[in-house]
Amino acid sequence: MANIVAIVGRPNVGKSTLFNRLTESRKAIVDDFSGVTRDRHYEMAEWIGKKFTVIDTGGFVHGSDDVFEEAIRNQVHIAIDEASVILFMVDVTTGITDLDDEIADLLRRTSKPVYVVANKVDHARRTHESAEFYAFGLGEIYNISSITGSGTGELLDAVVSHFPEEKEEEEVNLPKLAIVGRPNVGKSSLTNALLGKERNIVTDIAGTTRDSIRIHYNQFGNEFLLIDTAGLRRKNKVNEDIEFYSVMRTIKALEDSDVVILMLDANDGIESQDINIFHLAEKNKKGVMIVVNKWDTIEKDHKTTKEFESRIREKISPFTDVPIIFTSVTEKQRIFKVVEKAMEVYANKTKKIPTSKLNDVMLEVIQNYPPPAIKGKYIKVKYITQLPGRSPMFAFFCNLPQYIKEPYKRFIENKLREHFDFTGVPIQIYFRQK
Ligand code: GDP
Ligand code: GDP
Repeated sequence: MANIVAIVGRPNVGKSTLFNRLTESRKAIVDDFSGVTRDRHYEMAEWIGKKFTVIDTGGFVHGSDDVFEEAIRNQVHIAIDEASVILFMVDVTTGITDLDDEIADLLRRTSKPVYVVANKVDHARRTHESAEFYAFGLGEIYNISSITGSGTGELLDAVVSHFPEEKEEEEVNLPKLAIVGRPNVGKSSLTNALLGKERNIVTDIAGTTRDSIRIHYNQFGNEFLLIDTAGLRRKNKVNEDIEFYSVMRTIKALEDSDVVILMLDANDGIESQDINIFHLAEKNKKGVMIVVNKWDTIEKDHKTTKEFESRIREKISPFTDVPIIFTSVTEKQRIFKVVEKAMEVYANKTKKIPTSKLNDVMLEVIQNYPPPAIKGKYIKVKYITQLPGRSPMFAFFCNLPQYIKEPYKRFIENKLREHFDFTGVPIQIYFRQK
């Protein structure tokens, strides 16, 4: 089950300000390496140890004024279907508008948790003014100021009360793979090609507590659950916001999976949306690999693959230790390689390095290249252990952990990758007091 919080509301009420506060990100991050402007409208957030994804629906409204009302209505419908909790944001300085009323009408019909968030309550005196929002008939009003952050703690306490303490353990312990990517890159073609014609495959239709379809794959010595997003496209809704909808589905599949197979169209390369998904997978500590599909449509010489690969690695930097595979689903080129690699990534994600081996290798690395002394003080690493967890985490016990700087951590990470193969897997490294 994915924990998705959607912020809905008309323009200018403060949705993106709240989004930034909850995710501590700036709206657009210009990446020095790639020159790509990352417009992040969805991002992982955490409150009292519970993780969830926040979506700023306003980020998906493009175009002129007359299209946005329609777009907002569409988003509210999608949020009602797909989100776990909905924050309906209104502006205390303007009071109720017609569009607010329309949104409230839609939200009154859902049984999903909806919180009315009165924003811009910057001073206590505005608390009284927000009482008018009780007229929506949507229950309690949460007064907040997105700019100062006041009131957001109480709101978040209420929001995360809907999320389970820990993700429930799965009844089956099979690797879960999700093929994600923009529309038309070839996700469903790949799914179909993998499953083949003979359906010795059991389809596990989504029940009430699960929200994606999982297909049990067991062929050629590989067994896993494929989380299907492509098959879940809603057929009967016209005019809906495809981009917003597909992002919602992608986030759910991503949260539900162990390994994310990010598929690109070779003709488009890697775009900012893809980088966002990649970043979200990394932040969620998922295994990741990249598949460049429709490779048959590209004119190639002996350098094409290398060049393509290095362009992608530049853009996903600094986490570049991920498999990149070039496929043609229609020509059946390297599609089983995708499965093999994904299973390798899963193995890397779940492997445990024996403590003695870890210490033998890494203590020597550190001896040969110790952390720089600071103010005449030397940092001594005593021993290293891999911590229990769903993805690789290592604790380096030493005398002065506070003196370890980011570049040294990166150096250690690279050495761990070099010696133990964690391709496709984010690693966490902690220096701790001993
Ligand atoms: P969105 O269109 O709903 O995403 O709204 P924005 O987050 O872009 O905010 C619209 C305007 O309201 C901006 O000028 C913000 O600085 C301002 N704003 C947002 N939150 C607050 C708040 O808590 N108090 C005040 N006074 N202004 C706010
Ligand atoms: P999805 O939206 O990501 O699920 O994409 P589809 O699987 O529906 O594929 C979109 C289109 O791309 C279809 O017309 C496919 O036949 C085509 N397609 C998929 N894979 C390839 C490929 O490797 N090469 C070429 N040339 N076309 C492909």
